[in-house]
Amino acid sequence: MANIKFDEALCKGCGLCVTVCPRKIVSMSNRSNEKGYFVAEVTDKSSCTACGACFSMCPDVVITIER
Ligand code: SF4
Ligand code: SF4
Repeated sequence: MANIKFDEALCKGCGLCVTVCPRKIVSMSNRSNEKGYFVAEVTDKSSCTACGACFSMCPDVVITIER
């Protein structure tokens, strides 16, 4: 299982990562960070294939993936 992490403090809630996940396991949460943005999260880490699509899409380098 990939270890995927979102640095929520950096997320600006743009939702781009949600659109590209082929497994449809990234969604916007109802938590907001210190800047007031709702942050993205992975809802089912066990289904993540570590494909890197969300990592590549994020303009703010929020996401890290350890394989
Ligand atoms: S690495 Fe791929 S499968 Fe995993 S959450 Fe990101 S886009 Fe989805
Ligand atoms: S692409 Fe990056 S900044 Fe945008 S919602 Fe996803 S994690 Fe947050």
